[in-house]
Amino acid sequence: MSTHVASESGVFDKATARGHEQVAFAYDPASGYKGIIAIHNTRLGPALGGTRMWAYPTEEAALTDAMRLAEGMTYKAAAAGMPWGGGKAVIWADAHKIDRPALFKAHGRAVERLGGRYITSVDIGTGPADMVHVRTETKSVAGLPEPFGDPSPATALGVFAGIGAAVRHRLGTDSLKGLRVAIQGLGHVGFDLARQLHEAGAHLVVTDIDRGNCQRAAERFGASVVAPEEIIDVQAEVFAPCALGASLNPQTLPRLKCQVVAGAANNQLATDDIGDALRSAGILYAPDYVINAGGIIKVCAEYFGEPADAVEGRVLAIADTLTDVFLSADRAGIATSRAADELARSKFA
Ligand code: NAD
Repeated sequence: MSTHVASESGVFDKATARGHEQVAFAYDPASGYKGIIAIHNTRLGPALGGTRMWAYPTEEAALTDAMRLAEGMTYKAAAAGMPWGGGKAVIWADAHKIDRPALFKAHGRAVERLGGRYITSVDIGTGPADMVHVRTETKSVAGLPEPFGDPSPATALGVFAGIGAAVRHRLGTDSLKGLRVAIQGLGHVGFDLARQLHEAGAHLVVTDIDRGNCQRAAERFGASVVAPEEIIDVQAEVFAPCALGASLNPQTLPRLKCQVVAGAANNQLATDDIGDALRSAGILYAPDYVINAGGIIKVCAEYFGEPADAVEGRVLAIADTLTDVFLSADRAGIATSRAADELARSKFA
């Protein structure tokens, strides 16, 4: 998946360079809603992807994020073998200054105007309660409070299973007992992942910009807490990025002291060549969109009205998909990120 496209100037240049089918802009003066919906690829099915709400510094930054995330969703759905394409919505807003019901209803109308080509759900800055407002305007929404609720626990379960697969491949052990795992970000996914790792006997070193989250992890899981800027330097078998993207970049790479990178965050590699550099450094990277597909698997089951117990087995199968990716990367002598891209492209391209 391309993480960077050179010489992008306007929207059409960006769309062409990244292979997007459509980019829709929507504005609702009454609520102050400003939304961008990027549809990357619908060859396997309607474009699925959550809605991120963020106070982007510029319109340009919001557009770039929407397109990059939509592209990632195409790869994620394809790698997980789901009948979906990739899309993403961003709402350019300051969460402290908005009327949430009015804003998310406006968003629902924007989604509805796409006629079912894009199905939305939750992402950073939005939650199941917001999707209830979206649902008043369109059926093209998942991630509602009922019957399935927040997809984050499914994502955390998939990441936990994926860490197990990565540790097995890189360290040759089936047990996480006694291993050190450094977790960056203790939000919806990171905290539940910490719980599962703790229950499996791992030692945790954690960080979050929210001190309360760190304190809770220390109290409940006996985790050691470090400052956000120190987590990269922690000596641990596994580094699990569960905050924002681009945590693996030219500045952080030389500082890593782990054998495995496996976490929930989207777009962990700042640029594609970081995947190659991880391989050269002997660090096994679990490609982000493969390991963090648990949430989308749950959302997919919800959207198709399947029972909740259909989800767990599929989420745990993320471990098998990852193992296939690791083995094919070994065989081809390429980075795991590139092997994952090849797997996904073989399905949607
Ligand atoms: P969240 O917003 O609930 O949690 C993110 C946490 O990271 C917050 O606690 C935040 O304080 C912390 N954080 C932010 N910047 C940080 C920094 N520099 N250092 C340390 N901590 C920092 O989000 P989430 O739902 O837990 O998702 C985490 C990541 O996983 C995101 O990248 C998201 O896109 C990705 N993801 C989430 C899901 C899901 O189901 N929620 C699915 C797939 C991917």
